[in-house]
Amino acid sequence: MGIIDLDRSDPDFLKDVARQPGGEMIQACFTCRSCVAGCPISAVNKEFSPAKIIRMAIYGLKDEVLRSDFVWLCATCYTCQERCPQGVNITEFMTLLKNMAIKEGFAPAGIRAQLKLVTNDGRIYPIDDFDNKKRTKAGLPVLPTACKEIEKLFHKQTVAE
Ligand code: SF4
Ligand code: SF4
Repeated sequence: MGIIDLDRSDPDFLKDVARQPGGEMIQACFTCRSCVAGCPISAVNKEFSPAKIIRMAIYGLKDEVLRSDFVWLCATCYTCQERCPQGVNITEFMTLLKNMAIKEGFAPAGIRAQLKLVTNDGRIYPIDDFDNKKRTKAGLPVLPTACKEIEKLFHKQTVAE
């Protein structure tokens, strides 16, 4: 992690994280690193450490955490969460960070593009007439190329917020 510059610390970040699902228990972390030992991403990338990300969040390093590419490397496998002796919901915490990063505009371009596809089309891989021709040829049913329901869902959510 290197030297931590607490001048860059945002004390509200921990409070914000702690009141959301996934963040409730992070202060119980005592850095045993059981999560790191079982993490398949840490096994192939020594820089990736759920324990380090938790520590950075506790120190209020909001920008460093939310701008970090590491958050997006988590494969959501739940191994860490299963092994944590302190009941830290680590996988949900990583998902929370991803959601916060999206809201703050820090998500990588590929993730933003996927989000746009889902909100516009209701799918990560849009279906067009060419796909439907191939499906028909393969004996598969034709699928709708647009999803009006998703528009209503997102509109309702925006109104509810
Ligand atoms: S396993 Fe739990 S207590 Fe141990 S370092 Fe990871 S989050 Fe912290
Ligand atoms: S859920 Fe993410 S951080 Fe936890 S073990 Fe799996 S890949 Fe690693």
